[in-house]
Amino acid sequence: MIWRLLAAFYPDRPPDEIQRKERCLKETEDMFAPVVTAMYIRDKGVEASEQIVQQVDMMVDIMKDAFKHNLPKLSWMSAFSLSAAQEKLEHMVDLIGYPKSVLNSTWLDTFFARAEIDATDYLSNVVTQRSFSRHKEILQFFETYNRGLWNDFAHMPDIAYVNAYYNQLSNIMVVPIGMLQPPLFWVKPKSLTFGAFGIVVAHEITHAFDDEGILYDQYGTFNPLYDNKTIDEFHLASNCVRNQYSDFEVLTGVRVDGNITLGENIADHGGLKIAEIAYHEWLKSNGRSDSQLPAVDFTHEQLFYLGYALPWCAVHSDNMMRTHIVKDEHAPDKFRVLGPLANSPRFSEAWNCPIGSVMNPESKCKIW
Ligand SMILES: [Zn+2]
Repeated sequence: MIWRLLAAFYPDRPPDEIQRKERCLKETEDMFAPVVTAMYIRDKGVEASEQIVQQVDMMVDIMKDAFKHNLPKLSWMSAFSLSAAQEKLEHMVDLIGYPKSVLNSTWLDTFFARAEIDATDYLSNVVTQRSFSRHKEILQFFETYNRGLWNDFAHMPDIAYVNAYYNQLSNIMVVPIGMLQPPLFWVKPKSLTFGAFGIVVAHEITHAFDDEGILYDQYGTFNPLYDNKTIDEFHLASNCVRNQYSDFEVLTGVRVDGNITLGENIADHGGLKIAEIAYHEWLKSNGRSDSQLPAVDFTHEQLFYLGYALPWCAVHSDNMMRTHIVKDEHAPDKFRVLGPLANSPRFSEAWNCPIGSVMNPESKCKIW
């Protein structure tokens, strides 16, 4: 019994010293996440971070606005479902950047008051970490729940990471400070930022309305968002994407799973469509003026799509791809680019893809 308990606390032996160091670093990062967030922000500069957070705040508003204006154009949505979707969008809370409390040393000291760490004793540190986290979780039961507070996320290690997310159970979108840098967030040109970062934000918004999101209402309560007719029509429109992705061949005989990846693919399509609308509107209101890149002669629209594809540039081994297909609910990077772009009429227009070519098929999937 005791050995089983110890085994649960001790990880497998790392194969070498480098991996042992990496694991220790990761565990320290997870345990002291708010401290790491504070160090990250101070390294970037508090004022510079604040300025970027303000810019992103504006961008999120632009994306939400574009999503809102696109909703009435969806042929599969009834009037009842439309007002439910609008209400859910209005109630969506977005947390951008980082919780301010992490920059307050008194808050940090109080937060970690119970965590006694011994630099020479790994096992007792693991026990401390577990009991510390459990204690924090139990305390939450005695606190009044206020939806949408940054402090609820302050302990999370994701804030300095490059990963935005949407929480179905609270209707909250989190865009952490770690994301606000190239190749996602560029100061200029805006085409790249709308194409890369704008799409990520719109992707997360769309999760509130993907095949899982429509099971929850504006407060994140398990309660169908739409009427039955809209739900049926939405699934019918989604089937096209499901079939399209199931046809993507990753390796000989290995295909993408159109079912497992459906929610993410729906969000990718929503992300692209909404960011396209938002950038188009932004460009129009700025007299079609945006910065250019030196030495390359691309239009603003072409740069937008390059911005979209750039963060997905990657090379994977066959083994890695096989594991990805089974374990990951996202389609492989390459198909996250090819799938949505082949369904986008604006993409074909920007790059003059002939009708009937791979990237401009005659029959396209359209959900959003
Ligand atoms: Zn997603």
